Amino acid sequence: MHITSQPAAPGPQADAAHSSTDALGVSAAQARSAALEEMILVDPGRFRVLTGDRPTGRLHLGHYFGTLHNRVRLQNSGVETFVLIADYQVLTDRDAADGLTGYVEELVLDYLAVGVDPERSTIFTHSAVPALNQLLLPFLSLVSVAELSRNPTVKDEIAHSQQSSVSGLMFTYPAHQAADILFCKANLVPVGRDQLPHLEVARTVARRFNDRYGRGDAVFPQPDALLSPAPLLLGTDGTKMSKSRGNAIALAADADETARLIKGAKTDSERRITYDPAGRPEVSSLVLLAALCQNRTPQRMADDIGAGGAAALKRTVTEAVNEYLAPIRARRVEYARDRAHLRRTLHEGNERARAVADATLAEVRAAMNSRC
Ligand code: ATP
Ligand code: MG
Repeated sequence: MHITSQPAAPGPQADAAHSSTDALGVSAAQARSAALEEMILVDPGRFRVLTGDRPTGRLHLGHYFGTLHNRVRLQNSGVETFVLIADYQVLTDRDAADGLTGYVEELVLDYLAVGVDPERSTIFTHSAVPALNQLLLPFLSLVSVAELSRNPTVKDEIAHSQQSSVSGLMFTYPAHQAADILFCKANLVPVGRDQLPHLEVARTVARRFNDRYGRGDAVFPQPDALLSPAPLLLGTDGTKMSKSRGNAIALAADADETARLIKGAKTDSERRITYDPAGRPEVSSLVLLAALCQNRTPQRMADDIGAGGAAALKRTVTEAVNEYLAPIRARRVEYARDRAHLRRTLHEGNERARAVADATLAEVRAAMNSRC
C-alpha cells in the first residue's frame, strides 16, 4: 500500500446521473477531507470509522481507490474501524439476493487481501446485528418523505434498478445508512462521491436526534465523509464503475482479464492524452487510475503518454494496474484456501458489532424515554 499522499484531484465528472449533483457540495467535501486528514495525523484516537459495501459482487478498482485504500490507511494509523457488509441493502434494487452467501465471503476475502486486519477492524453483516436495524424506526421519524425522495443517489439508483417498481426499502436506504453509521457512533466515513447525499441524511438524523432527545448532550456525532483522490472512478463504459453495471474491473480479476477489459474501455477521438476530468472524463479516469497505481500525479502521467494516444494509455494503465494488484491478488488466493477462517472472521466481527449496537439501542431508548 504505497499510495499515501496523492494531491486531491477533482473526480471525473462524466457519470450522467452524478453530473446533476451539486459540484459545490463535492468541492466542499474535498476541502473538508483535506482538513480531516490533518486532524487524523494529529490525533487518530478521536476518530471512529464506519464504512461498507453491498454484497452484490466482487470489489473493484473503484472501491479500492474510492474507499478501501483509505480504510486500510486509517486502520493502520490507529483509527478504530468498522467495516459493514450491507446485506439487507442488496434488496434495495432487486427482488432476490441471489448468491448472497458467496458474495459475502468474496467481500471478506477482498478485505483481507487489501489489508483490513480483523484484529483491528470489525467486519460484520447487517443481518447479524438486529439492534442496528431497529434504529431505523426512530431514525425514520426524523426525516421527511420529501427529503428522502429528492436524494440524488436514490434517484440514480432507481434509474439503474433491476426492479420494475421502486420499493420502500429503496427510499429508506439513506435512513438505514444513518443507522449503519450511527450505531457505532462513527464520525468518519471513507466513501466515494456517490455517498455524499446519504451522508447528509446521516448528519441530519444525528443533529435532529440530539436536538429532540439529547437534553443538551450529543448522543450521536455528526459524521463526516472522507473522500479520496478518486471519489468517482469510471467503469469501462464511461459511467461510475459499479459491481452491478457490468463495467467493473474486479480486484480479483486475473492479468489477462484486466488487459481485455481495459482494452475495451471507452475513450475519445482526440489523440493527445491530457488530464482534463471535466472535458475528457473517460480518458482522465484512466490517467488517474494509472497515476494512483504508480504514485504519480495524473498531470505527469498524461504528459508522459502525450501523443501516444488511447492505445499507449491503455497499455500503461494495464501494466500499472496489474503490477499494483499482483501482491493483493496473491494474498487473496492464499486467504481463499481457508474458508473456515473467513467464516470465523465474520462470526467474531458480528459478535463485536452486536455488543456495540445493543449498547447504542439501550441509550436511544433511554433518551427517548421509550420501551418500544
Ligand atoms: P452496486 O452496483 O451493487 O451498488 P457499487 O459498485 O456501487 O455496487 P457499493 O457497495 O454500492 O458498490 O459501494 C461501496 C463503497 O464504494 C461506497 O463507499 C461507494 O461510494 C464506493 N464506490 C463504489 N464505486 C465507486 C467508484 N466507481 N468510485 C469511487 N468509489 C466508489
Ligand atoms: Mg452502489
